[in-house]
Amino acid sequence: MSNIIKTVNLSKSFFLKKNLNILKKISIEIKKGELVALLGPSGSGKSTFLHMIALLDQPSSGEIYFEGKKTSLMNDVEKDQMRGKKISIVYQQNNLLNDFTSLENVAIAMISSGKNKEFAINAAKKILKKVGLSKRLEHFPSDLSVGEQQRVAIARAAINKPQLILADEPTGSLDQSTSREIFNLFLKFKSQNRSIIYATHNRELADKADYKLKIIDGNIRRSNE
Ligand code: ADP
Ligand code: MG
Repeated sequence: MSNIIKTVNLSKSFFLKKNLNILKKISIEIKKGELVALLGPSGSGKSTFLHMIALLDQPSSGEIYFEGKKTSLMNDVEKDQMRGKKISIVYQQNNLLNDFTSLENVAIAMISSGKNKEFAINAAKKILKKVGLSKRLEHFPSDLSVGEQQRVAIARAAINKPQLILADEPTGSLDQSTSREIFNLFLKFKSQNRSIIYATHNRELADKADYKLKIIDGNIRRSNE
């Protein structure tokens, strides 16, 4: 079983006065170890798609399989567990906890998955070092640059070594060299047979993916552009 994610006729509509069909019967498969760029104009449904795959939002119809398991049959507790251990999402806005330091923001993700505090703190230091933030461990989010905040968010998403990382424009506010560092982290995950789907408008980063998926008019296609 080499699929991490498979969607079958996955659709999402929002109802605001009239029905908006954002995603229409999307059937795709993402394999283990694949690094996939998700493209599409603003408003095309990239975030909507990633939130559904992260099991944060219900599809209007269709099914998502995670490692071959139907996710529609999972209850909220099971979904929470999946999200804690197997799937991580990095949001467009980084969602850090403002009253906690960088180190705490990252360590908490591991503590809440059941690891002891000392172990989590050590792991958090290590991964923050990898994203170039060894000297920002005690900073609060408000004292970090936007790019640094985003790197903390990525460290937090990666600390539990999830099978799947979903990143919603993770490098949107980063300079070129930091974007490359983040991308190198993605390559590292890939080398560990983990999968990454990242929404991006950055052509250079999109071109480095194994392949690109593009959302156009509610459909997703592989893109060679
Ligand atoms: P992208 O991430 O590609 O910019 P989104 O997935 O955020 O696009 O949004 C896709 C479309 O769905 C947009 O037109 C947006 O206005 C609409 N949309 C997203 N969330 C909601 C919601 N909760 N209610 C109504 N419309 C929504
Ligand atoms: Mg978005």
